[in-house]
Amino acid sequence: MNKKCYICGKGELVTRKVDVKPYGVPIGKFDAEVCSDCNETFFSEQISDKIDEAAKSKGLWGLEARTKIGQAGNSIDVRISKRIAEFAGLRKGAEVRVYPEGRNRIIIEH
Ligand SMILES: [Zn+2]
Repeated sequence: MNKKCYICGKGELVTRKVDVKPYGVPIGKFDAEVCSDCNETFFSEQISDKIDEAAKSKGLWGLEARTKIGQAGNSIDVRISKRIAEFAGLRKGAEVRVYPEGRNRIIIEH
């Protein structure tokens, strides 16, 4: 009998390989336990370490940053860290599309 999900307690955990994509960048398939009900995915500590290593080796580490909204004239602005800008290939003067996706996310696309 399979283990029950640690989160929902309803589904059973099934072992399979899952695609891992930190910040949308695929870094490979890793063994995980996946809940048959809520789809929550659990990695062992050993696999988590492997995922962290793979992410670091592709520069996908420490990309998240906290920032504050500023104001410029009638608009507000957001500072984007150098690391995130370099990762996304954004430069000063680049034209981007900015649009909401739901009420708590804004996409900047180029
Ligand atoms: Zn579950």
